[in-house]
Amino acid sequence: MEKGFDFNSFRTTGIKVNYLYVCERKLWFFDRGIQMESTSDKVLMGKILNEYSYPREEKKEILIDNLINIDIVDDNEIHEVKYSNRLADADRIQLLYYLYYLKQMGIEKTGVINYPKMKKKEEVILTADDEKKVESALIRINEILKKDVPPQLQKKPYCSKCAYFEFCWS
Ligand code: SF4
Repeated sequence: MEKGFDFNSFRTTGIKVNYLYVCERKLWFFDRGIQMESTSDKVLMGKILNEYSYPREEKKEILIDNLINIDIVDDNEIHEVKYSNRLADADRIQLLYYLYYLKQMGIEKTGVINYPKMKKKEEVILTADDEKKVESALIRINEILKKDVPPQLQKKPYCSKCAYFEFCWS
């Protein structure tokens, strides 16, 4: 942890850390309680894949402080299950945040992002540089969510598939 960084003042949900890397505007909408994403096909598909790929008896999903919801926890690793790797950077920072969060609790683990549909996985280790990256992300989230208006519109390649498309482009 960077000297002087007060984690308790900045900790947030895993989904917000993910959205920071997807789109700052999306993060702002989501924080304002516009949560259309939960009914989208993509999220539903992710849930089905998660259930299908990891039989119920093997799954150990845990929710910590109502903030981070880790898909699978085993002795040495935590796993996050994703539908596709189209937003791999966002998936990675989310898992790094989970590893960082656990480290603040005195628990050190490594991470794996599973993409069962693609039969791929990515191992994630929290380095000192990654810790700084997580802290910068938390500070940036705080800055964005303090704003009274959403961040400026910027076209992303995935806007047409975003749950907030109507808010931005119509
Ligand atoms: S439609 Fe595009 S700009 Fe608007 S919130 Fe979604 S990703 Fe961001």
